[in-house]
Amino acid sequence: AIGWEKEMLDVLGETQVLLDRESRDKLSKDYFWYSPVLDRQLKEKVADGIVVPLNEEDVAKALAFAYKHKLPVTVRGAGTGNYGQAVPLFGGIVLDLSKLDSIVEVGDGYARVQCGVRLGALEKHLREQGQELRIYPSTFMKATVGGFVCGGSGGIGSITWGNLWDGNVLEAVVMTMEEQPRRLVVTGPDLLNYIHNYGTNGIVTELKIPISSRNEWMQTVVQFDRFEDAMLFAEALSKDDSVRKRLVCPVEWPIPSYFLPIVKHLKEGAAAVLLETVDGTLDAIEAHAASHNGSVGHIISPSQYRKTIGLSDFSWNHTTLWGLKTDPTITYLQAGFSPVLFMEQIKLVKDTFGDEVLLHFEWARNGGVVTPNALPIVRFTTEERLYEIIEFFESNGIKIFDPHTWVLNDGGRGEFGGMSKRKRENDPLGLLNPGKMNQQS
Ligand code: FAD
Repeated sequence: AIGWEKEMLDVLGETQVLLDRESRDKLSKDYFWYSPVLDRQLKEKVADGIVVPLNEEDVAKALAFAYKHKLPVTVRGAGTGNYGQAVPLFGGIVLDLSKLDSIVEVGDGYARVQCGVRLGALEKHLREQGQELRIYPSTFMKATVGGFVCGGSGGIGSITWGNLWDGNVLEAVVMTMEEQPRRLVVTGPDLLNYIHNYGTNGIVTELKIPISSRNEWMQTVVQFDRFEDAMLFAEALSKDDSVRKRLVCPVEWPIPSYFLPIVKHLKEGAAAVLLETVDGTLDAIEAHAASHNGSVGHIISPSQYRKTIGLSDFSWNHTTLWGLKTDPTITYLQAGFSPVLFMEQIKLVKDTFGDEVLLHFEWARNGGVVTPNALPIVRFTTEERLYEIIEFFESNGIKIFDPHTWVLNDGGRGEFGGMSKRKRENDPLGLLNPGKMNQQS
C-alpha cells in the first residue's frame, strides 16, 4: 500500500481494509450488466480500496478519513442493484456495510435493524415470531435492508402496502460526510431525501421499518389462452380487497417457457398469472378466473412456503434473469402503464413491436392507486433501437423509468423533497457516490 491507502490501514485496521485487485473488482460491481448500455460504460470501474466497517464508529472514522483526503465514498449493501448505483465512478473507497448486520429490536408492528441485515434473514426471524415484512424485492435472500431503502423501490407485498415512499420507512439513522460526521435521526417527510437516493446524501446505518402480522401464503398459477384475459383477471384480483395478497404478476407467453424449474407445471403457449395470496382464497381466485376464461393450474401450498422455489422467484426483475438464461441478448425496461388505459397501451405495444418486446406486469399500489407496473423484456439489437422503443412508450403515455442510466434524476424519479439541499448540507465536498445525482440549485 502507498499514500493514503497505508494511512487508511493504520486508521481502520487490516481486517477492515481490502486493497487486493480481486476484492476491489468484485466489490465494485452490481447487476448493471442487465443493461448492455451500462455494461459498456461501467465494467472497467474499480475502487482504490474497500472498507468494511464493523459498527457505526467505524463508519464515522472511515468518513472522516475520506473527507480529510477528499476521497469519493460509494456505499455497498449486497450489490444487487441494477443501475450501477453501487459502482464507484471515480475510484476512491467502496464502503461495504454488509457486516453491520444486527437486528436491533423487533416490536409489535416494527423492526429496527442495522443497514446490512439481509431482508431474507429478517423475514425468517420475523416469521418465527408471528410477524413478517410488508414489502421486499425479489432479491430478498441477498439484498440488505439499507440497499433496498437506498437503491430499490418496491416488490413483493407492494400490491398491498405500496412502495418504499408509501410509509414503508419509519426512521433512518444517517451519518453525514463532513470533517466530523454528524449522526442524524431522520423521520417524517425528510425521509424522502434518503429513500432511493443511492447513498448520495448520507450513509444510512440503521433503519426502523413497519412490519405486518404473519400470514400463511399460498402460491397459484392461473392460466389463460389470451394475455388480455390474464390482465383483466389480474386487475380484478388486485382490486379485490377481500383477497389479501403479496403478488399479482401476469406474464405473456413465451416468458413462462423461460421458467425452467417450474415449466413442466405450466401450460404450453398460455399466459400465466403468478399469485401469492393468503391461505383460504382459492375459491375467490377460481371465481375470478372463471369470469375471465382462465383456469387454476400449479399450486404451491402454504406448507411448502420457502421450502421450494417460490413464484416470486420468477417475478419483478427475476423474470429478466430467467430470460437471460435462455436468450443472452435480452434486456429490459421499467414502465408505468396507465391504470385506466393499460389495455389500449398493451395492444399498441404488441401491434408495434410483436415479440421484440415481451410483457409481464407486477401490479402494485402506487400512492394508493392500484397500478399495472411492468418490467418489459426487450430483445436488444442496438442502443438507438432501445431508445426508439423508449420514445414510443413515452409518446403513448407509458412512463419509462429508464434502467439504462446511473443518474438518479434521469431514472424518472426526478428531484423530490429537497434532495439537493440535503446534499449541500450533508456532503459539502460532493464525495458521496459522485456522478449519480445531478444537483439542482
Ligand atoms: P446495493 O445494490 O448494494 O445498493 C443499492 C444502492 O443503495 C447503491 O446506490 C448503494 O450505494 C446504496 N446503499 C446501499 N446501502 C446503503 C446505506 N446503508 N446507506 C446509503 N446508501 C446505501 N429492486 C426492487 O426494488 N424490487 C425488486 O423486486 C427487485 N428485483 C430485482 C431482481 C433482480 C434479479 C435483480 C438483480 C435486482 C432486483 N432489484 C429489485 C434491485 C435490487 O436487488 C434491490 O433494490 C435490492 O434491495 C438492493 O439491495 P442491495 O443490498 O443489493 O443494495
